[in-house]
Amino acid sequence: MTRPPFDSPSAADVATVSHQLGRPARNVIGIAARCACGAPTVVATRPRLDDGTPFPTLYYLSHPAATAAISALEATGVMAELATLLDEPELAAAYLAAHESYLADRESIESVPEIAGISAGGMPNRVKCLHALAGHALAAGPGVNPIGDRALERAGWSPDVCECEDYEAMG
Ligand SMILES: [Zn+2]
Repeated sequence: MTRPPFDSPSAADVATVSHQLGRPARNVIGIAARCACGAPTVVATRPRLDDGTPFPTLYYLSHPAATAAISALEATGVMAELATLLDEPELAAAYLAAHESYLADRESIESVPEIAGISAGGMPNRVKCLHALAGHALAAGPGVNPIGDRALERAGWSPDVCECEDYEAMG
């Protein structure tokens, strides 16, 4: 888990992320979480892309096995169930704190007025994208994003078990 300031990603990291995404990875400013083998799992992206586009999703889940596992989890309808947890005041407060932490991390890199107050994944009061929430949880570590933590607990994937493809062999 890694939060700002990030070390600059290596060329090998950017190449691996490009393979993971199936397109050239652009505006990568760091690797926020890694697989047990060291491959990037969560990529940190500049809040304003080179072409000027605001990009709110600071923490993007790039690992194919992780994204597939989260997609499978979303398909079970678990998002509605997790959203009901926000009826609990303590959990709702923790989710709001996660939202504010996400914004603070991003602001520490660059302030982009167009996306001020907008974090990711539905925070602070909805559950819209478990990929974004799990990505945040992986970057921030356990105990920061309560919904992201629960998504990771229930997903059939773990950063401790390498399921990486051989990216180099993929060329
Ligand atoms: Zn791996």
